[in-house]
Amino acid sequence: MSLSEQHAAGLSAETMVVAAGRPARERDQPVNPPIVLSSTYFGTGPLGDGDRGYGRYSNPTWDPFEEALGQLEGSELPALLYASGLAAVSSALSLVPAGGVLVMPTHSYAGSLVMATELAQKGALELRTVDIADTAAVKAALAPAGPDARAASMLWLESPTNPMLGIADIPALTAAAHAAGAIVVTDNTFSTPLVQQPLKLGSDVVLHSVTKYLAGHSDVVLGALVTSNPDIRAALLHHRTIHGAIAGPFEAWLALRGLRTLALRVERSQASAMVLAERLSGEARVGSVRFPGLPGDPGHERAKAQMTGFGSIVCIELASSSGQNGAEAADQLVRATELWLPATSLGGVESLIERRRRHTAEPESVPENLVRLSVGVENVEDLWADLKQALGRLDG
Ligand code: PLP
Repeated sequence: MSLSEQHAAGLSAETMVVAAGRPARERDQPVNPPIVLSSTYFGTGPLGDGDRGYGRYSNPTWDPFEEALGQLEGSELPALLYASGLAAVSSALSLVPAGGVLVMPTHSYAGSLVMATELAQKGALELRTVDIADTAAVKAALAPAGPDARAASMLWLESPTNPMLGIADIPALTAAAHAAGAIVVTDNTFSTPLVQQPLKLGSDVVLHSVTKYLAGHSDVVLGALVTSNPDIRAALLHHRTIHGAIAGPFEAWLALRGLRTLALRVERSQASAMVLAERLSGEARVGSVRFPGLPGDPGHERAKAQMTGFGSIVCIELASSSGQNGAEAADQLVRATELWLPATSLGGVESLIERRRRHTAEPESVPENLVRLSVGVENVEDLWADLKQALGRLDG
């Protein structure tokens, strides 16, 4: 690769997303890594650590993305790419020993919660769900009092949470988890390494749905894990190899291509999210706005302390109107938009709008009228004009 670790250490993240993971600077080498389509590699004799061996073990197209993401998250080790964010969740959860205790936010991404709940139902682990913004409650779940109480093996963090935008005190909680003997996995999908670096805040493993901001164009499904701990990385790599949830080379290539513009996309979408959150707060039909960038948001001070920005997901709850329930009004708002795309997911260049409880897996504590806005990179005035006209068309 063309960027030495020493040189990379002195570069800003905005430069790293462009410069990391390039081929060696040799005459006539391509400046972008090629896509390698091969399920196997020449070789004889015993396979060693450096051997590619077979397409499920490694692929040269994964390497530049894994190297770049590892460096961006502040690890000396490359990330591990997976077939999806949930494949990465599955691999991370494999670190919980049989019957071990997993502490997880009540409002984690629904897919992560479903997976943990199903593992708990078949006795693979004990699941304790907590309000991740309530530091005392999380500490109590990690190391409960009493002679028979079992300490946790893993603390799962998501901050901000999807879609409630709760903010965890990551440094305090990682310290408490380590004191209890637990390892910490942080889902950093909403923030990206440009906005929050969980390894530096004490987390052992960082998770991404690469599908979202990192790839950034709503055209691939991928996931990743990053750790600075060689033993943990070896266990995760073994899990990926044996369980087989690997990335396709084309998707890996697209993810690196998307990563090149991450800094620009994050800068634009965060700035627009702030403007939209402020304006939505002044709208009569909007009952409440969740966005950690707003000074009145319960997570604002914590977010300021551990993030360099506030992300670009804004959630609103519509004020009730006569004769219409919140879910109907929220559905009506989504349908009334013309520029915002009514679709699930987030983190792409295009702004997306969705009523989250349309998903049956979403916890019941997520309000029926909660609408999640993933702010993209369009002109903010165009985005606002569309929301304004959609709000204006609501009944009542
Ligand atoms: N984590 C978070 C916070 C997510 O929002 C998602 C997907 O929405 C995932 C993990 C799962 O990722 P994927 O859809 O790539 O499997």
